[in-house]
Amino acid sequence: MSIIKDEKDLSVIPLQVDQYVRYSRHLLLPEIGAIGQERLYHAKVLLIGVGGLGSPAATYLAAAGVGTMGLVEFDEVDLSNLQRQTLYTTAQIGLPKIVTAIKRLKSINPHITIVQHDEPLMASNALKILHDYDYILDATDNLATRYLINDACVLLKKMYVFGSVYNFEGRVSIFGAPNSPCYRCIFPKPGILKNTLGGLDLGVLGVVPGVIGTIQATEVIKLVCNIGQPLIGKILLYEALAMKFREMKVAKNPNCPICGLNRTITDLSDYEKNYNFMSKGEKAKINKISAFALNEIFKIQPNYFLLDCREDSELSLGSIENSFRIPINNLRERLNEIDQYKNKFVIIYCQSGQMSLIAAKELYEKGFDNVSVLNGGLFAWLAEGFPIKHNNNGRN
Ligand SMILES: [Zn+2]
Repeated sequence: MSIIKDEKDLSVIPLQVDQYVRYSRHLLLPEIGAIGQERLYHAKVLLIGVGGLGSPAATYLAAAGVGTMGLVEFDEVDLSNLQRQTLYTTAQIGLPKIVTAIKRLKSINPHITIVQHDEPLMASNALKILHDYDYILDATDNLATRYLINDACVLLKKMYVFGSVYNFEGRVSIFGAPNSPCYRCIFPKPGILKNTLGGLDLGVLGVVPGVIGTIQATEVIKLVCNIGQPLIGKILLYEALAMKFREMKVAKNPNCPICGLNRTITDLSDYEKNYNFMSKGEKAKINKISAFALNEIFKIQPNYFLLDCREDSELSLGSIENSFRIPINNLRERLNEIDQYKNKFVIIYCQSGQMSLIAAKELYEKGFDNVSVLNGGLFAWLAEGFPIKHNNNGRN
C-alpha cells in the first residue's frame, strides 16, 4: 500500500484495487476513512500471547489491516485450547502456535507484516521486544507476565491494552497513557503464589475471551485512528451470566511503585526474584509422572505421600484416594503440616498439571528432595478411567 494523501478524495489513494474492496467498509466510515486506514497500515502492535484473547484480537487486527503485528508465543496447540482459541484446529494439535497463527493470519490478510517472537516474555528480553511497537496488547491472562508488561510499558512510555478473563467474567482497560493510571496504580503487587510465568489453568467460558479479545482489538483500532473515547482511566467489567457491562473509574496513584512520585521500581532487574518467576526451563526440570505410572506406583510402592494442591472451588470432579489437600495459595503457611514427608516420595497433583508445578518448586525450595507431579493433573487421571473419591477434604 502506498501513502494515502487525502481522505476526502478516494480517487487519489494509490491503493491496489483489491485493497479498496478489502477495506471498503472502513473507507465508508468517516471516522476511519483513508487516513485511518493509512494509520492502521503504519501501526505496530505487539500481541503478547496468541491464545484465548489473542485469537480474536489478532484475527480482527490482521483483518483491519494493522501493518505490523508482533506475536509473542512459545506454546504448542493443545486439545484443551480448542474450546476458546479459535485460530487453531484439531488437526494442528502439537504444532507451534506461533507458526500456525501466522499462517492463518497471513491467509486472512497477506498485505501485513507479522513478526515472530517465539520465546517467553522475560525481564531480560521484555524491553527489547516491546521497544519497536506502538501499542502492547496483553493477551496472556497471566498475572506474573501482566506485571512485567505493565512495568516495561511504563519504563518505555507505551500504551498497554489490558485484558483478563476468569470464569464468566472479563475486564479490559488501557494503562500507561499520559497522566493516567498504570496497572500497578490499582494493584501495586500480586499475591504470593498467584504469579507464575506458566499461568494457572482456570475455568473460563470459551466465548468470554472472544468478547474481551475483540474489545481489546477495538480499543487498539480506536487508539491508532485517534477516534472515540478509549478505556483510559476506567476498567470495563463484563459479566456474561448477567450479561452486563459495567465501568469502574480508576485514578493514578501518587504512591504507585513504578509511576508514582517516589518510585521504587526503576528497571526490571528484580522481577524474577520478586515475583516467584518460573521459567520454562525450571518447569522442565520438575519430574512428571503419567497417570498410568501413578496408578502402578500405588500398587507397588506403599511409601509415598500424595499431595492435592487444588483450591476449594476445584473439587467437584472428586479426588484421588489417599491424598492430602492443601490449596496452593495456603501451601507456604501450611508447609509444617507435611514436614514429616520431607524425605519421602512426594507426588503432587492439581486439576490440570499447572499448579502442581508451582507447588513442586515451593517444596524443592523448602528441602523436599523427592518430588514429582502428576502430568496433566486430575484430568489425565480421569481420562485413563482410574477411580476417584468424592468429597475429599483431607487425608482419606
Ligand atoms: Zn502506576
